[in-house]
Amino acid sequence: MLATEYKQQLLPLLKTHFGYDSFRPNQLEVIEDVLSKKDVLAIMPTGGGKSLCFQLPALAMEGTAIVISPLIALMKDQVDVLRANGIAAAYYNSSQPQEVQASIFQQLINGELKLFYVAPESIAQFDAVFEKLQISLFAVDEAHCISAWGHDFRPAYNKLGSLKTRFPEVPVMALTATADKATQDDIVEQLSIPEASRHLASFNRPNLYLDVRPGQNRIKQILNFLEARSDESGIIYCLSRKNTEKLAEKLRNSGYDAEAYHAGMDTQERTSVQEDFINDRTPIICATIAFGMGIDKSNVRWVIHYNLPKNLEGYYQEIGRAGRDSLPSHTLLFYSYADVVQLRKFIADSENAEVQYAKLERMQQYAEALSCRRIALLNYFGEHVTQGCGNCDICKAPPKYFDATVLTQKICSAVVRMKEQESMGMLIDVLRGAQNAQVFEKGLQNIKTYGAIKDVSWQDLQQYVIQLLNQGVLEINFRENNRIALTPLAKEILYDKKSVQLAILHQVEKHIEKKTRPKSDKKGLFEKLRVLRYQIAKEQGVPAYVVFGDASLKDMEAKQPMTLFEFAEISGVGEAKLEKYGDIFLKEIVAHVEATKPKIPTHEQTWMLFKEGLSPSEIAKKRELTENTIYSHLLKKHAQGEEIDLHELVTIEELSNIEKAKLDLPKAEGLKAYFEYFEEKVPYWKIKIGLHLLDS
Ligand code: ADP
Ligand code: ZN
Repeated sequence: MLATEYKQQLLPLLKTHFGYDSFRPNQLEVIEDVLSKKDVLAIMPTGGGKSLCFQLPALAMEGTAIVISPLIALMKDQVDVLRANGIAAAYYNSSQPQEVQASIFQQLINGELKLFYVAPESIAQFDAVFEKLQISLFAVDEAHCISAWGHDFRPAYNKLGSLKTRFPEVPVMALTATADKATQDDIVEQLSIPEASRHLASFNRPNLYLDVRPGQNRIKQILNFLEARSDESGIIYCLSRKNTEKLAEKLRNSGYDAEAYHAGMDTQERTSVQEDFINDRTPIICATIAFGMGIDKSNVRWVIHYNLPKNLEGYYQEIGRAGRDSLPSHTLLFYSYADVVQLRKFIADSENAEVQYAKLERMQQYAEALSCRRIALLNYFGEHVTQGCGNCDICKAPPKYFDATVLTQKICSAVVRMKEQESMGMLIDVLRGAQNAQVFEKGLQNIKTYGAIKDVSWQDLQQYVIQLLNQGVLEINFRENNRIALTPLAKEILYDKKSVQLAILHQVEKHIEKKTRPKSDKKGLFEKLRVLRYQIAKEQGVPAYVVFGDASLKDMEAKQPMTLFEFAEISGVGEAKLEKYGDIFLKEIVAHVEATKPKIPTHEQTWMLFKEGLSPSEIAKKRELTENTIYSHLLKKHAQGEEIDLHELVTIEELSNIEKAKLDLPKAEGLKAYFEYFEEKVPYWKIKIGLHLLDS
């Protein structure tokens, strides 16, 4: 089948079951291959939409798709979402009650399931069943777990190699977000799918704003950051367990709903924190990197790294947990040199220290980058881009430089005079003329450059030294007490008058866009829909995003559908959700639109209908007002200068009667006397118009 034909067939399926109108990059290509019975290795960034790559073919093909997934939470989430979309899916694991297991077994045997999720540890129990089943495909999710090269090796994945040999006709799909080549090769080898077609999606996540700030006054910076984000979901990653708890407490003290999460807590506690986060009950989690693997929450709006991660792989995976719904999301990394020192200490005790040092160095370079961060990141993952992204702190506020030759000469000269034996801290102390015990003990107050740079703050001077390290002017000897030494480049600056440019500090802060709160307290439609979603999710005992993702709510806000027909067009609304939630969401949207409609003055509304050609009595009926009121509206418009032929409304005879009444009632004030004069037979409005005509 041709690609376009597939597309024509698959797009309606995508809309019907998932409510989406188009494919994400690589999805269609992967799906086409599976439908042609090819084995596939699909590598996509977190949030790239991997699950759809096996879910859609599972629906398009006969039989049951078997999905192997490493985490119960992950399986449960996906099955919840599928069921909300009206798709027959179930998962199996060893902790389910026996009767639940038995019922799932039965459904599987009966061929009632389109998708069946199982952990690799449990798969052996199904050997006999699989032989009898019609299996559409095998999908191995988080496939890097099969490789010892990967970072989450799971021994049970080793058994999966036999799937292809036992079921040679069934396509096997391997899906992961781990990109490196060694792991890729290992995956296809271990799964016995050497011919698998490989699909490598771009790792770019353009909706993630990349932001790096110096790690000073972190708490204050975080509080600032949170000010306009109090009800958004976010994660703050910390290096130590203790720190997660301390930070969560500080945030709570400042009025934010925050909880800590780390591996030292017992399982029950961890599960409850995680559930509260997923269900939008706790917006902020302060966690070690143990948190997040297997969390499929699509509306995480921001991720902060309180500490520097060990490597860019980890960093990218962690920030990747933000903005899976493709909506703009903020990621913020705090960079402090103390973290680097700390991480190096950890690494020193580990086996492959060399590799890890190198990875940390790349991490550091990223944090110190003075050109587009996304370029640095994507290049690291082997995607060669050169165009600045426009969505990182550097692109938003490119650094300006100053001639720092003299400053650098002073710094380098101090290093020489300290015989390249001192750490960065001591170098800065000496340059600033610090009067502390360590300086005096070593007699460093006597060297010529002592106090040579007094007018720069400690922290700024540290930043300059870091820039010099990055430019390769200075180097740190990590093996020997982190002593600072000069490179050949430093010697050119000191002795050959080579000039140096350094980035001006503190220029970024001015540009940090502060999110402003919406001006009025009136709740926007999105907020109202969020509340509604929360109520429904609570009633049904599912996470909020199972009902609708933020992307769908935003789409509703933007399009304001007024009918079920229009509601069906919303992204994420398939047939099942249209039926289940269409009415209740529409009601909320319509009510909002009504409530916020600009109020047209009542006489203007009458005037509009009158201009459309309706007669006063028709208008009165339509607007459920008395004819009197309608005429008084018209009179008002007439007084404002609109052209209305009042003579058409009152006959000449009626007019002369009113003229007569006027003579008989010289003292009449108001219309009541006339009304009684005509024995209540002439309506008020006629009297009013008549008098008006007589006066004008
Ligand atoms: P991954 O497993 O690759 O991290 P998911 O499969 O969880 O990513 O998908 C991330 C989000 O993107 C989910 O909310 C999913 O519903 C949504 N999504 C997937 N494909 C599409 C699409 N074609 N259009 C719109 N949203 C999509
Ligand atoms: Zn950029």
